[in-house]
Amino acid sequence: MAKNSTKEKIKVSGNGTTIDGALKFNSGWDYSPAPESTGHIEIKEKYELFINGKFQKPVKGKYFPTHNPANEKKLSMIAEASVSDVDKAVKAARTAYNKVWSKIGLKERGKYIYRIARAMQEKAREFAVIETLDGGKAIRESRDIDIPLAAAHFFYYAGWADKLQYAFPGKDPQSLGVAGQIIPWNFPLLMAAWKIAPALAAGNTVIIKSAESTPLTLLKLAEVIQESGLPEGVVNIISGAGETGAAIVNHPDINKIAFTGSTGVGKIIQKAIAGTDKKVTLELGGKAANIIMDDAPIDQAVEGIINGIYFNQGHVCCAGSRLFVQEDVADLVIRKLKDRMETLIVGDPMDKNTDIGAINSKEQLNTINKYIKIGKSEGAGFYQSSCELPSKGYWCRPTLFLNVSQSHRISKEEIFGPVLAVQTFRTVEEVIEKANNTPYGLSAGVWTDKGAKIFNITSKLRAGVIWANTYNKFDPSSPFGGYKESGFGREGGLQGLGPYLNLK
Ligand code: ADP
Repeated sequence: MAKNSTKEKIKVSGNGTTIDGALKFNSGWDYSPAPESTGHIEIKEKYELFINGKFQKPVKGKYFPTHNPANEKKLSMIAEASVSDVDKAVKAARTAYNKVWSKIGLKERGKYIYRIARAMQEKAREFAVIETLDGGKAIRESRDIDIPLAAAHFFYYAGWADKLQYAFPGKDPQSLGVAGQIIPWNFPLLMAAWKIAPALAAGNTVIIKSAESTPLTLLKLAEVIQESGLPEGVVNIISGAGETGAAIVNHPDINKIAFTGSTGVGKIIQKAIAGTDKKVTLELGGKAANIIMDDAPIDQAVEGIINGIYFNQGHVCCAGSRLFVQEDVADLVIRKLKDRMETLIVGDPMDKNTDIGAINSKEQLNTINKYIKIGKSEGAGFYQSSCELPSKGYWCRPTLFLNVSQSHRISKEEIFGPVLAVQTFRTVEEVIEKANNTPYGLSAGVWTDKGAKIFNITSKLRAGVIWANTYNKFDPSSPFGGYKESGFGREGGLQGLGPYLNLK
């Protein structure tokens, strides 16, 4: 049982602003440690590139380390793919496309995808532990969200593989060829599933690159794919950083690029493929508005705010990083939010009690700290939970900025950390205008008791995904993607299958 009987009012100062009323839980929360075991997993000292169904040494013989961000220890050495390796992988994917995957029976295609899905389910614990060790996210997140959802996407798209004509009635769906896919570090296996599963179901072959700080679950997936007997070259999994990604984007024999990552790199990719006939989908940054109306169920809304920005360390492009609270309930919401923040357990990501794990890398922690400094210097009210942080590793306490204005950088720019910028509003018109005043348009949330308000507000928000009275919920059959600088094209659902097909 958690003990939270003795509470004491504390004052927390920002630059020029003081925030009262936070409740500090003196006696702490005495959960016993509940570490997930690592006995069932194997992380090799060194990993090669998965090209043409085999693990192959990189042409230039270069390797880079991957670390556990929770203790800064090296986990493994990873092969870095050069332009020549990318070329080898694209050639393998092209041959597999021409000779096997575009010709194989549609039911056969589906069977292989199902087989991968089932193997992911069977090895779910291994995947979850490796995801957490390599990326720093709490084991609860990788165990309950990342891995089951990744398997669910393979199951979902396996179902469409032999039903493409029914998926797009009146059309003659044709595969594109070779898909080049580049993913970020925040949901490594899930982002891979979002991309590989629809590409295969649509009859394409794949070359995919993991992010440089989180290569391990994709390499585990490569082992699963090898065991599944998928024909050689249908999926090629490589590792490396931006240069490797650029080699994929610029390869002349790739038909489709799918990218998830920063808006900056998204723009580079768009320029690079302009004038080619490559198809592209981009899922980029976000600065989502989470809107709390005064008739909202406040306790649920507070949980939704916490889920929207603090779980997963705020490493979510659709994170509810801008909170808009209607003025007459603002004090209540902020008080409850601070109380709840104090109960969040920050620390060892492998502990099943942990709510907020490690920040993915030192660079990302530096970015977050830079924005915290900017927020303070802009004069916003500053509050952080009072939890202790481990001495090694990269950590950030759940952070709140109050009295934020539209012109503050912390309310405009993507921080990608557990940092929430709070603004208040009086009317629906005002909050819609404020929420839409952003270059991004990925996601949003609305909390209210009235269905009519939900329809009114959601119809006016410019965001690809809008949650009502919930936040950060995903399903393989629901499309995900943005407007404006959050990118274009959708992933998930039939909308995520279409971009991998020529629909004549
Ligand atoms: P983040 O800020 O989330 O790390 P990035 O956009 O930098 O996002 O990285 C997302 C993915 O894009 C990573 O796999 C990274 O290696 C890759 N990447 C970085 N630069 C380029 C580039 N110029 N071309 C293609 N891919 C790139």
